[in-house]
Amino acid sequence: MEVFEQIESNVRGYCRSFPTVFQSAIGSYMTDINGRHYLDFFSGAGTLNYGHNDPDMIKACIDYLGGHGILHSLDMYSQSKQQFLTAFKSTVLTPRGLDHKIQFTGPTGTNCIEAAIKLARKVTGRHAIACFTGGYHGMSLGALAITANPAKKQSMGVQIPGVIRLPYDGVHLTDVPAQLKMLEDMFCRPGYGNDLPAAFVLEVIQGEGGIHCASHAWLQGVAALAKKLDSLLIIDDIQAGNGRSGTFFSFEGSGIVPDIICISKSLSGLGLPFAITLLRPQIDIWEPAEHNGTFRGNNLAMITARIALEKFWSDERLSKDVLYKSQQLRQQLSEGLMGISSDFEVRGRGLMLGIAFNDITFAKKLSAQLFNEQMIAETCGPSNEVLKCMPALTIASQDISDGGERIIKAAQTLSR
Ligand code: PMP
Repeated sequence: MEVFEQIESNVRGYCRSFPTVFQSAIGSYMTDINGRHYLDFFSGAGTLNYGHNDPDMIKACIDYLGGHGILHSLDMYSQSKQQFLTAFKSTVLTPRGLDHKIQFTGPTGTNCIEAAIKLARKVTGRHAIACFTGGYHGMSLGALAITANPAKKQSMGVQIPGVIRLPYDGVHLTDVPAQLKMLEDMFCRPGYGNDLPAAFVLEVIQGEGGIHCASHAWLQGVAALAKKLDSLLIIDDIQAGNGRSGTFFSFEGSGIVPDIICISKSLSGLGLPFAITLLRPQIDIWEPAEHNGTFRGNNLAMITARIALEKFWSDERLSKDVLYKSQQLRQQLSEGLMGISSDFEVRGRGLMLGIAFNDITFAKKLSAQLFNEQMIAETCGPSNEVLKCMPALTIASQDISDGGERIIKAAQTLSR
């Protein structure tokens, strides 16, 4: 591993939690150069919702490459884009009654968030962005300004004004009407002095922030407040989207229709970089090429994304399966962890579950212990107090109960 330590920047991060050299992966297992197999409950932080190297997506890539398919075309029209747009409309937008336009941004989550907040400012002519405690939206300056994590922000080097941070659902008060009244007061009551925001930006399930879920009633209240103030509602579905919560979008079932939706991570289905920003047609007021970028629309990713949509989102089988597995894992963890040395809470939705420990050192130790036992699970939350359980949505039943068992055994070992 010296080559990494000598040559790669000190900024490297995940490799410190999972210090081995990975070589190959299939489904829910990653293999290192020593031939050790690791059960993956991390899924590239939500980028590998359909597991590693889905055979249909790999085959489509090989065929495309072998046929000299266009790989780079900026935002020129390509056949792969034509097919992706058609598939996204028929499998995702139309069945959900959405008529959003699709903006291809640079291929990271951060890129599609930047496009969203820039457009919100252009549409409303306002500067301020309302965002929430625990929120994580990316590392470029605009996205970082609305991210809550102070450790990530300390290297910003500049102040970005106009960020209004609000308490996320359940942070100060549990009573939803009282929370909504407080949020409304912050903008409507004389004397608070907050600028009216261009947009409210939020995650329906906070990933990096510690697996906190917003209730339907709270989401509806925030959506209504945004409407009342003529602000836009931006849902960051970068981590919780693409089926992670059990439905394609995490806000489904809440009754809200966001003005802008950001998705990335598992969109390509295969871990290839790809991001889009979905816009209500009425706010698609961009001038041609006003928001640019060399890598908007990754043609190879569009090929695999289309396969993922057709394979997993043409019917409700995957959704039902995720909800079933979620219930199975939640119950197994809640029962099996009883009696360990730290109080805990299992929370989350779909296969975006977290185990929050009262002893804030426990989750980090547990993640390290699991790695020693050949399982990958990361931590999240402001003090890294939560063990995140994000297996592939396609994980076999046997593997999910095996993972649950390993977590319970490791927690018991640490409790001795
Ligand atoms: N938003 C959310 C909710 C995320 O989880 C992430 C990545 N963890 C981002 C934005 C940023 O995405 P990227 O790292 O691809 O820029």
